[in-house]
Amino acid sequence: MIESDCMPKLVRPMRILVFSTTTGYQLRSFGDAAERLGIELMFATDRCHAIDDPWQDRAVPVRFEDGDALPSVAVVLDAARERPIDGVVAVGDRPVVLAARVAEALGLPGNPPGAAAASANKLQARRLLAQAGLIVPWHFEVSTAADPAAVAGEARYPAVVKPLALSGSRGVIRANSPAELMAAFQRLRALLARPEIRAMRLETDRSVLVEGYIDGREYAVEGLLTDGAFRALAVFDKPDPLDGPFFEETIYVTPPRLAPGDRAAIVGEVARAAGALGLRHGAVHAECRLMADGVFVLEVAARPIGGLCSRVLRFGPAGEISLEDLLLRHACGEDVAGIEREPAAASVMMIPIPKRGIFRRVDGVDDARRVAGVEDVRITAKPDQLLEPLPEAGSYLGFIFARASVAEEAEAVVREAHRRMTFAVDAAIAVAQPRGGDA
Ligand code: ADP
Repeated sequence: MIESDCMPKLVRPMRILVFSTTTGYQLRSFGDAAERLGIELMFATDRCHAIDDPWQDRAVPVRFEDGDALPSVAVVLDAARERPIDGVVAVGDRPVVLAARVAEALGLPGNPPGAAAASANKLQARRLLAQAGLIVPWHFEVSTAADPAAVAGEARYPAVVKPLALSGSRGVIRANSPAELMAAFQRLRALLARPEIRAMRLETDRSVLVEGYIDGREYAVEGLLTDGAFRALAVFDKPDPLDGPFFEETIYVTPPRLAPGDRAAIVGEVARAAGALGLRHGAVHAECRLMADGVFVLEVAARPIGGLCSRVLRFGPAGEISLEDLLLRHACGEDVAGIEREPAAASVMMIPIPKRGIFRRVDGVDDARRVAGVEDVRITAKPDQLLEPLPEAGSYLGFIFARASVAEEAEAVVREAHRRMTFAVDAAIAVAQPRGGDA
């Protein structure tokens, strides 16, 4: 229980509203953190029927992509009249705009809705970052109905095609030539035509972004904004090459092996990018590339690092504070500026999908767990589940977590643990795919 500024005058516990698309680990982590802190959580989700965790009672049913009609804001405000809310947290990309609208309507610290919307739209983000003088590659938006040859003719090379609003590198494809770009464009529009994507009712699935490919080693930054002031909680190195044609993330390791000047440049540009988007309050997760002559900020998302991955981050001298603890305390208005990431190096491997097919089993998990430094191996794929790699899908098979005294070792540990496992994936029986836009 926090005895602090967190709950000075209230006779009831603080109540934080968590907007989330997921029902799994990260919500349980928030639930555990809330219990430790004596905070009450209220959930707003568009998957109420699927929620099974014991901490959420009476989750508020919303639609994250309600556009401007705002019925979901009204539903949340109604719920908040009965159960007053002291802060909001958005988990995952889809709820960020609704969370911002609710925070604004309730007069709570949060992001301006326009800024949250810009952070979740790659085209809008490019425009705002360019206006603020940040490095932005050449880019143009094109309708999914466009002639692929015309799109290829307009681009320069190497290029990247990507959806405006998906995440996790889904649909992001590098093309080195007009022929590759035509194929990539057709592949992306077929993906956007899938029923599960249409079902999200994204207003952004009718066009795609084509932009210049920018080379450079990639880093991720986990940060926290407090009334517009940015603070980096951690910088992650991504040691595996991410040079396409698809961009599957595997290892994150912190602290990054970076010259202090380069680290400062990365953090400075991410802070500037967050400001350019207009973000002001709450967690941010950013990706960027370090080039010889500057930092290219790929994106700044108005949410924390996703899912199980958050376990790679621990704070306090003995690593006793989870990221979710920190975010809830921040959402309660507590000053968390003095809380630093633990001294140990840490890494996570998002176990890549070896090939498309039906996942049967993984052997060697116990052996992998025995590697010194491994903290946990979590296989999240379910037996008989269809595994689909990027660019179409891109969930992970599971996660390996490690801690060590230095980053090199933390990285070597997850690689060794991965080497000890074998993954049985059978060829999938071909199923008719819905016709895409590339008929
Ligand atoms: P998402 O939001 O789905 O993660 P991003 O736009 O961040 O989409 O792209 C995913 C990954 O693709 C990036 O982390 C990076 O590795 C690669 N990528 C995307 N755009 C570019 C680009 N213009 N130049 C180089 N790499 C890129």
